[in-house]
Amino acid sequence: MKELKIDVTLSTEKKQKPSFDNLEFGKSFTDHMFVWNYTEGKGWHDARIIPYQPITLDPAATVFHYGQTVFEGLKAYLTKDEQILLFRPDENMKRFNRSNDRLCMPELDEEGALSALKQLIQIDREWIPSGEGTSLYIRPFMIATEAFLGVHPANSYQFMIILSPVGAYYKEGINPVKIAVESEYVRAVAGGTGNAKTAGNYAASLKASEIASENGYSQVLWLDGRENQYIEEVGSMNVFFKINGEVITPELNGSILEGITRKSIIELLNYMNIPVVERRISIHEIEQAYRDGVLEEAFGTGTAAVISPIGEFLWKNEKMAVNNGEIGPLSQKLYDTLTGIQNGTKEDPFGWSV
Ligand code: PMP
Repeated sequence: MKELKIDVTLSTEKKQKPSFDNLEFGKSFTDHMFVWNYTEGKGWHDARIIPYQPITLDPAATVFHYGQTVFEGLKAYLTKDEQILLFRPDENMKRFNRSNDRLCMPELDEEGALSALKQLIQIDREWIPSGEGTSLYIRPFMIATEAFLGVHPANSYQFMIILSPVGAYYKEGINPVKIAVESEYVRAVAGGTGNAKTAGNYAASLKASEIASENGYSQVLWLDGRENQYIEEVGSMNVFFKINGEVITPELNGSILEGITRKSIIELLNYMNIPVVERRISIHEIEQAYRDGVLEEAFGTGTAAVISPIGEFLWKNEKMAVNNGEIGPLSQKLYDTLTGIQNGTKEDPFGWSV
């Protein structure tokens, strides 16, 4: 892989590290950050690693007004023998460019960005926690910086990478979550930006999540924006159901984000010879499966939690329990296998770890 030439300015004052025993997600950041500028006509330039610091932007910068921005999320793990592992980082870079294309943002040099990411992690490697379930969360993102109030693709951008040590998602074992089926608000629509990792999708999701949370539900199950019956995602995760021995996940339709955990779970299920299909599935089908007693398991998938089992759906004032609200055997097995591959304690037959 080609190494990106980066100008490095190390921080003279090391920050006080938080206690690695009690890390909150996304609250503390490492000593350094990566910055790369893009100017139309000139391309990518001034790749640099600098001390972590605020950025200065013109108040008219496009990102503030029209939301031209893309981000990614992935994790680095420290193995018992002090190796640093990344999980399928090339997939994140590919998805970054798919999002860029949808938002009319310039293509990122994927190898260059991956090289920058590796160099930044090496510099801040003492920030990678080593406790069970802990990792270094990596947030690459790009913003449109041109100072101009017209609605058009900007002519200048900044790509940045910041790093945040994160604790175990499940501190006291995996607890299945309660999910409210959302029938008023939608996250994304066919033809919209749902399959791009861009800020607006997340802003659009807040209202429904807030209401669900007030009612004691941890997240919402998103339905499609046209017929309001086909299942899309759960919170900011992809979703899987096990019905009568078969695993089903909604097929990619343009409004669903193509999760890297989703893709890995499908590949893992195929490897394990467990039937898995990607197809349209409606909330009515879930309700029927529940009534027939064949809704065996349900879980969300994403980088943060890896697998998040669902113990209950609230749908039209009815509570539908899944596996008596307990984690099912398949969810547990998938969680153990995938997290084991990610942190280097299990064999990786797929070559996913870098
Ligand atoms: N859907 C949405 C909307 C997300 O934000 C995420 C997190 N990136 C996912 C699904 C899961 O994707 P991944 O498995 O790549 O983390």
